[in-house]
Amino acid sequence: MFNFDVIVIGSGIGGLTAGSLLARYGKRVVVCESHTIAGGAAHSFRRRGFEFDSGPSFYCGLTGANSLNPVKQVLDILGESIDALAYDPLGHYHFPENTVPIYSDNSLYLNEVSKITPQGAIELQHFIDKMLPLYEAMKGIPTIALRTDWQMIPILITNYLPSLLKMLPNLPLIQSSVGNVMDATVTDPWVRRLIDLECFLLSGLKAHGTIAPEVAFMLGERSRAGVEYPVGGSGAIIQALVRGLERWGGKLRLGCHVEQILVESGKAVGVKLKNNEIIKAPIVISNATVWDTYTKLLNPDDLPASYRQKALQTPAVESFMHLHLGIKASGLENLTGHHVVVHDSKLDITVPGNTCMISIPTVWDTKLAPEEHHVVHAYTLESYKGWERNEEYEAKKNSKAQTLYRALERIIPDIRERIVLELIGTPLTHAHYLRRHQGTYGPAIEATKAMFLGANTPIKGLYRVGDSTMPGIGVPAVAASGILCANTLRS
Ligand SMILES: Cc1cc2nc3c(=O)[nH]c(=O)nc-3n(C[C@H](O)[C@H](O)[C@H](O)COP(=O)(O)OP(=O)(O)OC[C@H]3O[C@@H](n4cnc5c(N)ncnc54)[C@H](O)[C@@H]3O)c2cc1C
Repeated sequence: MFNFDVIVIGSGIGGLTAGSLLARYGKRVVVCESHTIAGGAAHSFRRRGFEFDSGPSFYCGLTGANSLNPVKQVLDILGESIDALAYDPLGHYHFPENTVPIYSDNSLYLNEVSKITPQGAIELQHFIDKMLPLYEAMKGIPTIALRTDWQMIPILITNYLPSLLKMLPNLPLIQSSVGNVMDATVTDPWVRRLIDLECFLLSGLKAHGTIAPEVAFMLGERSRAGVEYPVGGSGAIIQALVRGLERWGGKLRLGCHVEQILVESGKAVGVKLKNNEIIKAPIVISNATVWDTYTKLLNPDDLPASYRQKALQTPAVESFMHLHLGIKASGLENLTGHHVVVHDSKLDITVPGNTCMISIPTVWDTKLAPEEHHVVHAYTLESYKGWERNEEYEAKKNSKAQTLYRALERIIPDIRERIVLELIGTPLTHAHYLRRHQGTYGPAIEATKAMFLGANTPIKGLYRVGDSTMPGIGVPAVAASGILCANTLRS
């Protein structure tokens, strides 16, 4: 009766890693993607010769043996690979009062901080020294070996006992927030803001909301593996995962919107598409967010009411304003690729519009734009509320984009005269193209305050992957969610 063994709803990195691994494990897999381009938040798109990343552009460990990046570990198993270009400093952080280059290498990083605050640099060193032992312990247990059921226990004991023992003294840190570690080691206000900023860039939350393992991993990994940009842009990662899926017999259907998950007697049995087609499988994996899965794809009575209510109460990080530009490159020979601009020190860094992220990937991969041009992606948080496609929409869109232009002017003062292509995205654009509830970046679950719901659901045969299933919004975390789900379903 079943057309496939597994249906995956959505081709974000979480969906693609789960789907491609299950195909590699011999399952008959179909990935149904609503958009006409695969990749979800990590998809790339082309306009007039410019190749834009819609979201991520910051990656560690995409190449190189023994990478700890879960995406690389999945690609290895699939027999796929990508090319990437290494660079350092990984970015420049621009505060109203100064600009600091941020290096992957921790000694170079500390050296730059000491030029601004010598005492702060000593404290930052103490902070890093507290975090890195956790990374050292985590490093010994590759994500690709993990699963979420009881079978994990014999695997850990048989294959990873030394790393497990290393982990024991770090147990309190695993459950701690970065803020707790910061409170114990750093008093310097400049460095405290720096740590808050680094957390915010990772998780959408400041240090007290971010879990320590996430930042320990980031600090360790960026200094060990270095920072890399994928040749061809983020889309190159997606293409490699899709190649891997198809190489092992899996299918990707684009423009294939799932309208409903079919549940019979408390068990998932397939999906109904927008065109009314029914696909049947005993396992359905949703890569849609927790809010979209439980409101749009299931009937309210498919789930226990208390579970559903709790799941839907998961707080969400805001959405985004985006500016995608094609610009003339002449005279910009010394440009660097990543920048973060904080406009106003008196305002919290999380206030929409105050912190702006900028990526100029043509600094590393010139082929992403026509000759003598750059692609620019700038974005900042923006609330979904209040946006409507009415007669004020265009004016509001242009007005809200100004904070991004002001940020860009810190790096390229004559940016406005250089523009040959301008695309402005609002929270409505973000929600529409990524099919994400209110265009959210992901769950705003504060460290130590609540738990993520994980891959399992109360419905037999229905699983979830992606950024609303485990801590650490970002490509490594969502790839890890796909691995955990696939490994658990392997046998
Ligand atoms: C602006 C921005 C910058 C970022 N920068 C970085 C970075 O530099 N580094 C980093 O590591 N991370 C970064 N991230 C985070 C990272 O991109 C995301 O966490 C990750 O890509 C999310 O993947 P996912 O698998 O959870 O789901 P998503 O990417 O949300 O994919 C879900 C997919 O499901 C599809 N879908 C939903 N509903 C349906 C349906 N009913 N039927 C069919 N398909 C459906 C959607 O169309 C989508 O393709 C960034 C994110 C954003 C938005």
